[in-house]
Amino acid sequence: MQYVSTRGHSATPSFSEILLGGLAPDGGLYLPREYPQVSNAELDQWRKLSYADLAFEVLKKFATDIPEADLKALAHKTYTADTYRNTHAGEDASQITPLRTLEDKDGKKLVLQGLSNGPTLAFKDMAMQLLGNLFEYALAKKGAELNIVGATSGDTGSAAEYAMRGKQGIRVFMLSPHKKMSAFQTAQMFSLQDPNIFNIAIEGVFDDCQDIVKAISNDLEYKAAKKIGTVNSINWARVVAQVVYYFRGYLAATTSNEQKVSFTVPSGNFGNICAGHIARMMGLPIDKLVVATNENDVLDEFFRTGVYRVRKSAETYHTSSPSMDISKASNFERFIYDLLGRDSDRVKALFHKVETAGGFDLTGKPGSDGNEFTSVIKYGFASGKSTHADRLDTIRFAEERYGITVDTHTADGIKVARENLAQGVTMIVLETALPAKFNETIREALGRDADRPAGFENIEALPQRFEVMPADAASVKNFVAQHTGL
Ligand SMILES: *Cc1c(COP(=O)(O)O)cnc(C)c1O
Repeated sequence: MQYVSTRGHSATPSFSEILLGGLAPDGGLYLPREYPQVSNAELDQWRKLSYADLAFEVLKKFATDIPEADLKALAHKTYTADTYRNTHAGEDASQITPLRTLEDKDGKKLVLQGLSNGPTLAFKDMAMQLLGNLFEYALAKKGAELNIVGATSGDTGSAAEYAMRGKQGIRVFMLSPHKKMSAFQTAQMFSLQDPNIFNIAIEGVFDDCQDIVKAISNDLEYKAAKKIGTVNSINWARVVAQVVYYFRGYLAATTSNEQKVSFTVPSGNFGNICAGHIARMMGLPIDKLVVATNENDVLDEFFRTGVYRVRKSAETYHTSSPSMDISKASNFERFIYDLLGRDSDRVKALFHKVETAGGFDLTGKPGSDGNEFTSVIKYGFASGKSTHADRLDTIRFAEERYGITVDTHTADGIKVARENLAQGVTMIVLETALPAKFNETIREALGRDADRPAGFENIEALPQRFEVMPADAASVKNFVAQHTGL
């Protein structure tokens, strides 16, 4: 399997060659030259597989340069009932992503697929846990090491730390804004005592952390000398790992491949739902892919109007579903590449326009950049939006009607999914976090605390290990140099 850049760079690297990297050299994102296809017979066989075996079958179509026995071992090491044990009461952890029927009335069925049962209680563990094992494997093969430097305001950083803790050849330096994360999220990250994990609390806001990471990434000499890497949401292996649970959700919700399902996905950077698009392009019988956004509705606007208009910082809201608070969607370019018939020259021009003019317009109106909005429907996409008031209503509704407490992001998904139910097509909502992570809003909605999974009861009381630093790239660089010995 060869990979191509959405902006047309001439190199065609393999899976292992793009595994540890981010953007293509021309600033594009990687995609397979062609999507591997899945036959009916394969789908039938896959219906019986464990999650780990299914992950192996999907992965081997994309990671063709990793020996199959190794890939299988990595999948089995990653997807265990012990790692994904934080289920809602009564759910079977061995399912890894258990399904729960929320309603089934008049031929309209709504199902929740739990993706948040991993160590940090959010769906990012689904991909990041695999990435940790893949990175360790690839680095050992090369006799290489990697120092991951990242910035986080919550979910991504903790998922990365829990995936990389104790891994050979890897260190993580995670920057977060000092005293700006929730007590729970801070405790999750700072209570890690592994010697290869470094929490750096920056005296500033999240943007300051991100600026420091950018400054380090732009210092090519330093980056090479200190073997610096990142793990952001555009990493291709993360997207592939996410493709697996779309197959799993479909196969667990159906009994024959004649049946179709739709997915509603609480979305921010378009990473999660991009994996759904890829599963659909591989031949999985998905009817609709419904994008659910919060007040930061860049994606909802595109899928309603054909206009992609990124937001300025002042227009980016801090909401009660904070992991979807984005101003632009970093994985969106992958879908646009397919939508434009893989015309990399046009993709390059459009995303250049995003930088210079703040967006593009595919409505086909005079002066627009193209008319491909009319083709969006062929790819199954639909969208909707949810606000803080909707979130509170949905959390209450889910408790009363379905007897389950859902987190704020999942509530956005359920709200939008219910607007898109269709006769005879099961709607699967992806649960992207457990409510314990966003307890402030649960308390506002329900007047009580969210349940915490076993082992998290006293997490705030655990000893914390972190370093406070000024918002200054030089200090961070020194710290990294000191602790890598490079
Ligand atoms: C990251 C995240 C999202 C958004 O996922 P994208 O891949 O960025 O679209 C939604 N919900 C939760 C809880 C998250 O952590």
